[in-house]
Amino acid sequence: MSTDCLFCKIIAGELPSEQVYSDEKVIVFKDINPKAPIHLLIVPRDHIISLNELDNDDLTVHMMRLLPKLAKGQGLNNGFRTVINTGPAGGQIVFHIHLHLLGGGSLDGAGFSM
Ligand code: 5GP
Ligand code: ZN
Repeated sequence: MSTDCLFCKIIAGELPSEQVYSDEKVIVFKDINPKAPIHLLIVPRDHIISLNELDNDDLTVHMMRLLPKLAKGQGLNNGFRTVINTGPAGGQIVFHIHLHLLGGGSLDGAGFSM
């Protein structure tokens, strides 16, 4: 837990979120400013800053394999997009690693406009 981290505060229940899933490794909640009709954030409970610091193989596989299950649970049967922003030049704003799961609209192309 990092005391000045927004997502650590959400994980600790100190700040509210619209949670859709949780287990011993991650919590999943709705993005406060959705870029698609469905926009979820998959967030590890451990305070890992970014993909540059992610060295936990079990957690990595867990998050990847959770994505299609969450998408199915959200009714995204025709596909979805996964985005990981890394570092300031990669568009990362919250420095606690998270996977974006987007879907429910037409997400054509490479999606850099997200
Ligand atoms: P990043 O640009 O770091 O990959 O994405 C951060 C995401 O967190 C953004 O999509 C932003 O809308 C979302 N976000 C920022 N603050 C909050 C918050 O307090 N609650 C929730 N649910 N999402 C947030
Ligand atoms: Zn954190």
